[in-house]
Order: sequence, then structure tokens, then C-alpha cells
Amino acid sequence: MKMYTQTDVDPALLGDERIAVLGYGSQGRAHALNLRDSGLDVVVGLRRSGASWDKAEADGLRVAEPAEAVKGAKIVVFLTPDMVQKSLYAGVVDHIDQGATLLFAHGFAIHYGQIDPREDLNVVLIAPKGPGGLVRRQYEEGHGVPCLVAVHQDPAGNALELALAYAAGIGGARAGVIETTFAEETETDLFGEQAVLCGGATELIVAGFETLVEAGYQPEVAYYEVMHELKLIVDLLHEGGLRKMYKFISDTAAYGDMVSGPRVVDEHARGQMKEVLSEIRDGTFARNWIAENEAGMPEFRRMLDADLDHPIEKVGAGLRSRMDWLTE
Ligand code: NAD
Ligand code: MG
Repeated sequence: MKMYTQTDVDPALLGDERIAVLGYGSQGRAHALNLRDSGLDVVVGLRRSGASWDKAEADGLRVAEPAEAVKGAKIVVFLTPDMVQKSLYAGVVDHIDQGATLLFAHGFAIHYGQIDPREDLNVVLIAPKGPGGLVRRQYEEGHGVPCLVAVHQDPAGNALELALAYAAGIGGARAGVIETTFAEETETDLFGEQAVLCGGATELIVAGFETLVEAGYQPEVAYYEVMHELKLIVDLLHEGGLRKMYKFISDTAAYGDMVSGPRVVDEHARGQMKEVLSEIRDGTFARNWIAENEAGMPEFRRMLDADLDHPIEKVGAGLRSRMDWLTE
């Protein structure tokens, strides 16, 4: 494993070079503000009709249409949703300077061939391992969110140095920047959110809720046990791994964890995980997601509506409204 830190970075490399940040959502806002506060020259590229334009201006940033924003920029950062990056690139490519750098926060568009970058351009990845809000907050507090760095195209031989200077600009180098590839970042990121963080965790919660309710237990009690209390466990894991969790839960909980956990996430579940991973690696997932977008996302909406219509959502909303400290 290769990790870069602040001392490996030459922040002067970006000096007064312009950075065009395309998109001003979760990551875009955090990157643009952190780069500006690091003393760099930032312009945000947005559609004039979009909702983010006023927000970026109100934050005191220079804003222009994407094709205008990229002119004269040394680094062009793609921080729009992954599915619009292909058309966004097509709309700006003719305005990007020779030898400039394309920078991504997730490898999807490059790894799955949605963008076939011009050969004179550097193509790099700086992927913060956290949501934009955290990237901004940690920077303001003098810390940083760790990042991954990768280089896909390096015509002039300085792509890695530029990427690391950018990582320092958003605060990531304070926490460490681990070297990876576009393939590894994209595939592990998709697998993590599908099998564990989002898909796996929510399915586990809902299945646990249904098991208790079908057995005749009160939905409110089931909600506290399988959804509400998950935060306590996740916080312990986040702060100190398995060791800290085992230290703070009861011996009864730890014994139950060890004898029952492997029965739920059993060989079948592990086999399913492998299948999910192979569909990410062979491009099946990407093809399906791109096709779903092109079709106007009917299946996406149908599945989301079904999830949001689940009884656990009504029970949870009622209980959460009585815990006003949750929204503080
Ligand atoms: P987002 O949905 O929060 O923000 C999208 C932004 O793009 C908005 O400002 C929107 O106005 C703008 N936009 C949409 N279409 C546009 C267009 N055609 N032209 C110009 N602007 C347009 O996006 P996000 O979640 O910040 O994701 C951005 C990138 O960062 C993605 O590649 C994502 O995979 C990656 N990433 C996200 C996170 C995260 O926590 N959200 C973490 C790591 C990496
Ligand atoms: Mg789900």
C-alpha cells in the first residue's frame, strides 16, 4: 500500500492556475470552497437554469456555464452525477486547454468507457472517502477526509503530482491519500454501497423488522431494535473497529453476535456477494444502470417508491418525531 501525505505534496504546483469545478452538489460545493480557502483560483461551472447557480454565487464563488468555465483551466473537475458526465464532457471538450487535467471523484465514467478522454489530457482521480458535508467540515476544523488517488492518463508525466496538489487543496492530504487504480476505486466503491453500506444494510434492517413483526412483536419495539440502535454500533465500528464495538456491547450481545451472525450472513449470502461483485466487474451493473437512465428511470422510481412505502418508514417517522435531539 502506498500512502501520500502533506510532505509528499508541492502545493505551489497549482499556484495561480485556474481550477474549474463542474457541479455544485455534495462534493462540488465542498471541493470548491476548500480549494478557494486554500488560496487557489476556482470557477464553478453550472447550467444557468440549474438550482445550484444561485447557491454558488451566494457562497462568493465565480460561476459560469461549463463550456465557459473550463476555458483557461489547468484542472477540470467532474462533480456532477456520474450519469451526466458523458454529455457534460461532450459539451466542454472543445474548450479545454491542451495538456489540462480532467479530475474525477469516482471512476465510473472513465472505467466503463462513458468518456474517452482526449489524448493530450491528464486523467486523474481524487476520491474522498466521505460525503461532501464532511469534506467541508473537516477542512474547516483543520483536518481532512482521506482520499484515494489514481492516474488513468499521464501524457506529460506529472499527473500524479497535480492530483496530489489538488488533494492537498481540499484537505485530503492531511489525512492521507492512498494510491489505487480507476478499476479498483470504481469496483470497490460500487460493491461497498451495493453489498454492505446501502443495499446490504437496508435489506438486513428491513428483513429483521419483518421477522419480528411477523412473529407478533410490536412494530415500534422492532424499529428501535433493528434501525434506531444501529447508529450506536456503526459509531463504535467507525471509531475503533470490531475491538471497540466488542468492548462496549454486553457479553451477551457479543456471544450472540459470534454464534448467530455467521448463520445470517452464511455461505449463500457470501455467494450472492460474489455474484454482485462479478456483475460489477464484467460491466453488467453499469450497462443496466446506464440503460435505466436512458429509459427515464422507471424501474428506479418503482423500487424507490416501494422502499419508501414500507411500514418501517411510517413507524419510524412517528417515533423519530418524539426524539427532537435527532435533528439537532
Ligand atoms: P450531486 O448530485 O450532489 O450534485 C450534482 C451537481 O451537478 C449539482 O450541482 C447539479 O446542479 C450539477 N449538475 C447536474 N447536471 C449538470 C449538468 N448537465 N451540467 C452542469 N452541472 C450539472 O453529486 P455528488 O453526490 O456530489 O457526486 C458528484 C461526484 O462525486 C460523482 O462522481 C460521485 O460519484 C462522486 N462522489 C460522491 C460522493 C458523495 O458522498 N456524494 C462521495 C465520493 C464521490
Ligand atoms: Mg434496499
